Amino acid sequence: MPDQAFKTVLYTHVTPEIVRVRMNRPEARNAQDLQLTRDLNDAFDAANQDDNVKVIILSGEGPHFSSGHDMRGGTGAVFADFRPVGTWANFDAPGAEGAMAREEEIYLQMCRRWRNIPKPMIAEVQGKTIAGGLMLAWVCDIIIAADDAEFRDLVVSWGIPGVEYFAHPWEMGHRKARQFLYTGDWLSAKDAYRVGMVNEIVPAAELSQFTEDMARKIAEKPLFGLKMTKEAINQTLDAQGQWNAMQTVFVMHTLAHTHWREVNHGRGLYTAEGAAPVPGGGARKPE
Ligand code: ZN
Repeated sequence: MPDQAFKTVLYTHVTPEIVRVRMNRPEARNAQDLQLTRDLNDAFDAANQDDNVKVIILSGEGPHFSSGHDMRGGTGAVFADFRPVGTWANFDAPGAEGAMAREEEIYLQMCRRWRNIPKPMIAEVQGKTIAGGLMLAWVCDIIIAADDAEFRDLVVSWGIPGVEYFAHPWEMGHRKARQFLYTGDWLSAKDAYRVGMVNEIVPAAELSQFTEDMARKIAEKPLFGLKMTKEAINQTLDAQGQWNAMQTVFVMHTLAHTHWREVNHGRGLYTAEGAAPVPGGGARKPE
């Protein structure tokens, strides 16, 4: 597939074997609305179906990798604009039914789908990565962080046990995951490296070059060898119970999310003002 621009994603070849998928909503700090999620899915599919491509790099335009899910409606896309990639439906149903279907489709199933793309994917992360943004980095095989990178998941403030794709204990170990979630504190690039969540830390100015050099080295390997190795690691995680645990936690997530709406008189995290109150003070800026 030639270089091209989706509505919110740029698709460019670094070499014939390496594709860079770049989120391109810097004005919204690459917040994920429906359009961006679908564009990512289409771009990953394009790279995956291009038999010349061996490695996919995921990056974000601007100072930050991703501010998470768009809480202001984003580009205005709605569910009816797209054919679902998963098996859930009735996205506009009231109550927990529609909410669960929506989050199954665009968060849990979409992330699972991307995690299972058989070609190696490298996340290139700079600045802030918040909540839903973590899921984008985590579905990749390798995470390269700029030295200014930092990570945060603050949804426990709304009574919700972490973002929809609950990889926290796998990504940072259960001790650090508890601290990360209970406090909502930032995890620095250095600490993310220490707990094994990121593979390398490099100076911000050298981030893209470093990532592309690693992608070139990976691309020297036969594609089938890379696919089998990726599958071996994914199967090992699944044999350890990763996917079963995620599905179970997703149900808790839906319960807690629905509870939040109920006790807040039907208001979701996504308010008309684009900001939700954080228990214990302040209003949360949309991220
Ligand atoms: Zn949710």
